[in-house]
Amino acid sequence: MTIVLATTNRKKIEEITRMFAGFNVRFLPLDSFPDCPEIIEDGKTFRANAVKKAVSISKITGHPAIADDSGLEVRALGGAPGIFSARYAGEGADDEKNVRKLLREMKGLEDRDREARFVCCMAFAGPDGSCKTFTGYISGMIGRRRKGFNGFGYDPVFYPAGHDRTFAEMSDSEKDSLSHRGKAMKKLYAYLRKIL
Ligand code: IMP
Repeated sequence: MTIVLATTNRKKIEEITRMFAGFNVRFLPLDSFPDCPEIIEDGKTFRANAVKKAVSISKITGHPAIADDSGLEVRALGGAPGIFSARYAGEGADDEKNVRKLLREMKGLEDRDREARFVCCMAFAGPDGSCKTFTGYISGMIGRRRKGFNGFGYDPVFYPAGHDRTFAEMSDSEKDSLSHRGKAMKKLYAYLRKIL
């Protein structure tokens, strides 16, 4: 079976492919379909964005599609950056700029006000328009400076609860075992085992 991964983010493709290794599925990244139009993420929730991407890409390509929408929610910032995590510092902003803005916005906050969580909603859609969603969370704290070089996005400033290292200081497999995406993917994995 072929499943299209409705993302062009290399790190996410690597994470998903790694977690489903051993599964009898061929994953095709979105750039295997160069004519596919860009799907605008204009939903108000992670779920709405993931569903829109998965359903649209599945209809266009004729294959089942997996899409995810994920991001960081900081309690003291009222849930920001949330669905705007990828472009927190402005349209086209990179990880470096987004992290810099986050640290600036949180400057001076005590530990108790540095609580945050990553959220990931994964959607699995079929060409007939059917769609199932699976959500994972990981709670933690935002540090005061960057630590570590692995991963992507806000990993260098995110300490998962119960750990004194950031995601960026962890190996891929350690992050996978804790992460919001890992948890959402485990639920998706269980579902696919049932239906495939
Ligand atoms: P998406 O590609 O629209 O899901 O946006 C996700 C954004 O949220 C990324 O660009 C990162 O800034 C952030 N993000 C999501 N998952 C992670 C993670 O596992 N580590 C660090 N940042 C993440």
